Amino acid sequence: MTRDPAVRRLDDWGAPELRDLANEYGTPLYVLDLDRVARNFERVQAAFPNAAVHYAAKANAGRAVLSRLATEGAGVECASAGEVERALEAGFAGEDVLYTAVNPPAADLDTVVALARDRPELTITAGARDTVDRLAERGYDGRLCLRVHPGTGAGHGESVATGGDASFGVPAADVPALLEDASDRGFDVVGVHAHTGSGLSNEDRESHLAVVETLASVAERTTVDLEFVDVGGGFGVPYRPEEPPLDLDPIAEATREALAHLDVDLVVEPGRYLVADAGVLLTTVNTVKPAGEQGTFAGVDAGMTTLLRPALYDAFHHVRSLEPDTADREETAVTVVGPVCESTDVLAEGRRAPEPDRGDRLAIGNAGAYGIEMANQYTSRPRPAVVALEHGEDRIVRRRETTEDITAMEEP
Ligand code: PLP
Repeated sequence: MTRDPAVRRLDDWGAPELRDLANEYGTPLYVLDLDRVARNFERVQAAFPNAAVHYAAKANAGRAVLSRLATEGAGVECASAGEVERALEAGFAGEDVLYTAVNPPAADLDTVVALARDRPELTITAGARDTVDRLAERGYDGRLCLRVHPGTGAGHGESVATGGDASFGVPAADVPALLEDASDRGFDVVGVHAHTGSGLSNEDRESHLAVVETLASVAERTTVDLEFVDVGGGFGVPYRPEEPPLDLDPIAEATREALAHLDVDLVVEPGRYLVADAGVLLTTVNTVKPAGEQGTFAGVDAGMTTLLRPALYDAFHHVRSLEPDTADREETAVTVVGPVCESTDVLAEGRRAPEPDRGDRLAIGNAGAYGIEMANQYTSRPRPAVVALEHGEDRIVRRRETTEDITAMEEP
């Protein structure tokens, strides 16, 4: 396997090694290289040398990922009480945890407020005045950050350009007064936060900077002494083979400049950037169907229940055959489809690729982020196993589910 390129493309993974893993553990199988996760964390830390890097656990909250990043010295950003519980269990300390409460269910607030009683260093980010009230009702007066709705967003699609969506955060103009109000009510007001969107590319730099500048102006206008400004995550990775990687340095530089006149610490919350290219999904062709002008349909044992992103966002994932004889096969347009009877169950459409054969192993790239995390059991399909690569060894870190796992919660 090629060691540590700046971007790990699907072609950088060794086909024989991946085939061996598929043979040993079966498919569909997520493979996650924890050493690569650690290198990606180092890359962000190097671009933002004085920032606190909090991993957005929603990208992949598996214990193996969380505990490796805790060991590496990362912090964590949690989107739910469950993520907070999993992060603490994986080894993060209270001071490492930022909990971003987006329209939080009562049970989430109850749980996190209870956890914060023993861990007063934990920080809760509220995205609405109402959430601040609900925290006060629960007797919480600990570390509080406010999520700002900056009014601009960007990212790999409309559905993830959260900065432009009013359901996330308090309008920027209202934030200074709310910060002061919360401080007067006894909260330990420590920061402001915004998230531009997910999958930011080099072209999105200006939008991201506009969000950082909005945060800076909020921090300037408040009389509350803030400890940090959290500019969110969203750093994109190239999903298409021809796409250039995101250049983090100019983003980091512009972010630092925009905040230089403020006496605040910088926080970033990357999710995808740390785990996406550390993971691949392995799958096996089970059905080959010639489809005339449409080329060939390859039915595989992974689908929208295993990797939801193509169905959810029309997301592109590079797919590659792991078979040794592909150079001898004719090229055709191959559409890779899953086993679910939904027309959205398409992992790749009309790609120029060698004619598939039943039993072929395929690898799907950049599957480490929002892959296993979004996997589901629709059509009673057990979720796949996850194998981790670490320090030259491989081990199962999440076993393959069974039908019994699916029915375990049912009562007669
Ligand atoms: N922070 C917040 C508040 C988010 O909502 C998200 C993603 O939705 C992230 C961080 C991480 O985004 P990404 O995985 O694109 O870095």
